[in-house]
Amino acid sequence: MKNFTYYRPLSLEAAVALLDNRWGTTELLAGGTDLLDLQKEYIAQPDKVVSLTFIQDPVFTRIEVPQILPGTKPTVSIGAAVKIADIAEHAELKNLFPALTDAAAQVGGPQIRNMGTLGGNLCQRNRCWYFRDEHVLCLLKGGRRCFASDGENRYHAIFTKGHPCVIVHPSTLAPALIALGASVEVVGPSGKRTIELNKFFQAPTKPDQREHVLAPNEIVVRVLIPVEGLRNASYEVRHKQSYDWPLAQAAVAFRLSGGKATNVRIVLGHVAPIPHVATEAQKVVEGQTITRELAEQAGEAATVGAAPLSQNAYKVHLVKVAVKRALLLASGAQPDWAI
Ligand SMILES: Cc1cc2nc3c(=O)[nH]c(=O)nc-3n(C[C@H](O)[C@H](O)[C@H](O)COP(=O)(O)OP(=O)(O)OC[C@H]3O[C@@H](n4cnc5c(N)ncnc54)[C@H](O)[C@@H]3O)c2cc1C
Repeated sequence: MKNFTYYRPLSLEAAVALLDNRWGTTELLAGGTDLLDLQKEYIAQPDKVVSLTFIQDPVFTRIEVPQILPGTKPTVSIGAAVKIADIAEHAELKNLFPALTDAAAQVGGPQIRNMGTLGGNLCQRNRCWYFRDEHVLCLLKGGRRCFASDGENRYHAIFTKGHPCVIVHPSTLAPALIALGASVEVVGPSGKRTIELNKFFQAPTKPDQREHVLAPNEIVVRVLIPVEGLRNASYEVRHKQSYDWPLAQAAVAFRLSGGKATNVRIVLGHVAPIPHVATEAQKVVEGQTITRELAEQAGEAATVGAAPLSQNAYKVHLVKVAVKRALLLASGAQPDWAI
């Protein structure tokens, strides 16, 4: 690991002031479950590491669920420093947003969930093995080509059109939060701004880009989720009892009134460089009663536009299964599969 200077600011403003306005020279440290690996692998070689763990600002460190009264439009606030385990175990969040708490409960293992934070989860770097190998000069490290596009690509994207780099976005919380209509509040040198989460992620293609649109001197403060009374669920397909990231995920949210689903959102994880909104599948479900047949049709529609690589066509089928099961779970149907 390259030597660095370690900073322990006590406020978000002091942390922002320590950050450079270009990527690479400074890094934020939250739980460290991704950053330390990146440093040990020489993928991140910062001169300064700015710890966020001494900041006590409650907006940054707490979960706030307001009283939910008829006729109000409450918003839940989850600080970026909140641990993934605390999200997974929060009783009110479980009741309102099972898509989020179920996704959180399946992240890594207990150690990762008890160290990893919400902010770190949204800003973690991708897991492509070419990117993570210090000896490989891929597109994201200033090289000329993406080695995964015609190399070892069984865990890579299947929605590849228009993407010179075929990583999958690594966060399983992100698809759930996008389906729930969440936004992020961030702070930088000119103060705070709010970004809708469906505009927060980007597909990086060069070294001066990350998997999100934050400026190098901005920090995620909290995630805001509107309480809209939506049915919601997330379903992941993984290797059996795996500690690893899912192979495919679907997060869904919709309003159910008079037996019909409206305001349908279906977001796929781990199949594209950013969380993938399955618009064709949403159209299939909008205004309809969710039956097993309809959920299956939505699964088919979710794969429209897929262009798998040489080793990952199997993920097309996993997407169909994930969408179908997430829709059935959210609609309240009894699972007819082993869980
Ligand atoms: C074995 C294993 C399995 C895993 N499985 C999953 C999985 O199934 N699903 C999943 O989603 N994740 C998975 N993860 C990833 C894990 O969720 C992340 O490593 C963790 O969430 C990162 O949080 P952290 O607080 O440790 O971040 P850190 O490692 O401290 O930081 C990660 C990155 O985020 C930046 N950052 C941190 N906080 C902020 C902030 N507030 N504002 C701006 N930038 C910030 C840092 O600068 C750094 O670049 C797994 C990890 C491991 C090791």
